[in-house]
Amino acid sequence: MYFKNILVPYDESDHARSAIHIALGLAGPYPEARVSVVTVIPSAALPNPTLLGEGFEIPYAVGDPGGYERIMDSMVKRTVDDIQEVVNQSLDDAQCKVVADAVISNSPVEGIADYVKSHDIDLVVMGRRGLGALRGMIGSVSFGVLRSVEVPVLTVK
Ligand code: ATP
Ligand code: MG
Repeated sequence: MYFKNILVPYDESDHARSAIHIALGLAGPYPEARVSVVTVIPSAALPNPTLLGEGFEIPYAVGDPGGYERIMDSMVKRTVDDIQEVVNQSLDDAQCKVVADAVISNSPVEGIADYVKSHDIDLVVMGRRGLGALRGMIGSVSFGVLRSVEVPVLTVK
């Protein structure tokens, strides 16, 4: 077995789905292997507490300091549940461990690169393209990951 700890960065695109299939194909027969399917939520996608002021009818406003964390937690949980559903459909008879995860980071590339380091990832399998408008042959996240991680990256359609 070459790769024990595979990361599939997942953005709900068809290419990312096929990355899940391919990663499970590689690791599936090995109970000691792990596939982590992970979505990075860019911090900019979260409501910005510093923008709160009059006129902002946001439930975590003044008087509820824990509200912001709760919104972030529920966003992470909802994302993990969505990933888990997709993963369950792809499992077949995979013997490997499969983890669904979501992390918040400045950017998808940074989140993926940090995950590779902090989780001892030895292979990244990701889509060539994602949900963005079709421009060029490879998306900016795939391009950024190829440039910023030391482990092998398999890009798939
Ligand atoms: P762009 O985003 O540059 O407009 P794109 O959406 O077509 O182009 P990418 O975003 O690079 O292409 O997507 C390529 C692959 O990167 C996806 O198939 C997925 O594996 C991964 N990816 C993209 N965004 C995320 C994200 N937020 N979290 C985790 N993985 C992601
Ligand atoms: Mg994209």
